[in-house]
Amino acid sequence: MTAAPLTDAEIERLRAQFPILSREVNGHPLAYLDSAATAQKPTRVIEAEAEYYRSANAAVHRGAHTLAAEATELYEDARHTVARFLAVDDDEIVFTGNATDGLNLVAAAIGHASTGRGAGADFPRFALGEGDEILTTELEHHANLIPWQELAARTGATLRHIPVRDDGVLDLDAAVSLISERTRVLALSHVSNVTGIVTPLAAIVPHAKRVGALVVLDACQSAAHLSLRPRDLGVDLAVFSGHKLYGPTGIGVLYGRSEVLAALPPHVFGGSAITTVTLDKAAFLPPPQRFEPGTPRIAQVLGLAEALRFLDDVGLDRVAATEHALAERLLSGLAAVPGIRLLGDAAVAPADRIALASFVVDGVHAHDAGQVLDQVGIAVRVGHHCAQPLHRRLGVTASVRISAGVHTTPAELDRAIDVVASIRPFFGLGEEETS
Ligand code: PMP
Repeated sequence: MTAAPLTDAEIERLRAQFPILSREVNGHPLAYLDSAATAQKPTRVIEAEAEYYRSANAAVHRGAHTLAAEATELYEDARHTVARFLAVDDDEIVFTGNATDGLNLVAAAIGHASTGRGAGADFPRFALGEGDEILTTELEHHANLIPWQELAARTGATLRHIPVRDDGVLDLDAAVSLISERTRVLALSHVSNVTGIVTPLAAIVPHAKRVGALVVLDACQSAAHLSLRPRDLGVDLAVFSGHKLYGPTGIGVLYGRSEVLAALPPHVFGGSAITTVTLDKAAFLPPPQRFEPGTPRIAQVLGLAEALRFLDDVGLDRVAATEHALAERLLSGLAAVPGIRLLGDAAVAPADRIALASFVVDGVHAHDAGQVLDQVGIAVRVGHHCAQPLHRRLGVTASVRISAGVHTTPAELDRAIDVVASIRPFFGLGEEETS
C-alpha cells in the first residue's frame, strides 16, 4: 500500500517546527528551496544539541564519573537510533564529519591497505594495485569522485566512469559492460544532486557483486527523501551527511557491512580506537571504534539522532509520497516556462526522483537567475553543484537548482516557478531568442 501524502494541515504543523521559516529575506517571506545543499533544522534538533551541553557534556568512552557514563550511553543510544533508521546493526555505523569525510575514510583505508605497510599490512583484503579498476560515474558529486581519483593515483589502479547519456541519465548498458573481473570498487550515488533522478541500483549493483567488487553508495541525496535500506540495496558501504536530513552540520554516517568494516584498516590514528599501544606499535579495536579515533562529535551525533526521530515521526514513506507530488509540480511548472532547459530526462517518473530540479535559463547566467530569485526571498542553489563533469557532459557550466524538503509547500514551488518565468523578460529576452 502506498503511503498517503502529508495533508496541508500536517505540513503547516511541520513548518511551525522550523524557526527559520518564519523569517523574511529581502522583505519577502523566505521560501527555502535549497534543502539539497543543506536542510533547515527543527527546534527539537537545535534543542537536542543544546541540552547535551547544558546537562550531560563529558568525553565519551573515558573516565569513571557519572557524566562520562551518561554521555557514553547517549552517544551509543544515538548509534542505535541511526542503525535502526537504516535497519542495520549498531556496530555497522561509523560516525564521520560528513559524507565527504565518509567517502574519504573508505578511500583512505583502501589506500592504506594497498601500501601493505603499518596497519595496512594486517588488512590486505581490499588492497588495490595495477590492473585493478575503480568504477564510478560521470554524474558524481566531487566528493564521490576525487577520493577515487587520488586512490587510483596512489595505487596504480585504473579509474573508469559509467557514462551519462545526452539526457543526463546513466547509460546502463555501458555500466554492465564496464563491470568486469578487474572491477574492485564501484562507487555511485543513490540520487543525483543535479538531476534528482534515483539511480536504478538493481540494474547495476548485482553485476558488481557478482565480480566481488566493493559497492560504495553515496546516499547524500536520498537519505532524507526515501526509506534507505542499504542491505536491501545490496551495497557494502553507504554514506550520508546529517545536515541534509534536518540534523546538525559536522556529522555524517558511514554504514558498512560488518565483515567489510572488519577487513578495512583504520584511516586516521589516535586514542580511543586502540587496544594496546607500545612505543613502536598499536593494535586496533574492532569497528566502529577503529574508525572513530579522538573525542567524537558527541553533540552533533545527538542532534542527528533527534533529526532521525523527527523523520521517523513524519514517516519517510509519507515524505516520499508528498515529495513525489512536489516533483511532479516542479517539473511540469518548469516545463511550461519558455526558454528553460531542464538537466536530466524529464520523462523519468516522479516516483523515480526526488523533488529537485536543475535547469538553465536560456541567455541568463545561473548566478543572475539566482539573484533574481533571492531578491524576492527565494533561496536556490546556483553553480555546478560540485558536479563539474556532469555539467560539462551536458554542455553547460552552471545551472539553477530548486530542491524541496519536508516543509516545502506547493505554493512555494509555484511562487518560484512564477519568478523563474519572469527572469528572461526581466533581462529583455523574448521567446524568439530561445535556442
Ligand atoms: N554527495 C552528494 C550527492 C551531495 O549532494 C553532497 C552534498 N552536496 C555530497 C556528496 C557531499 O556532502 P557534504 O558536503 O555534506 O560532505
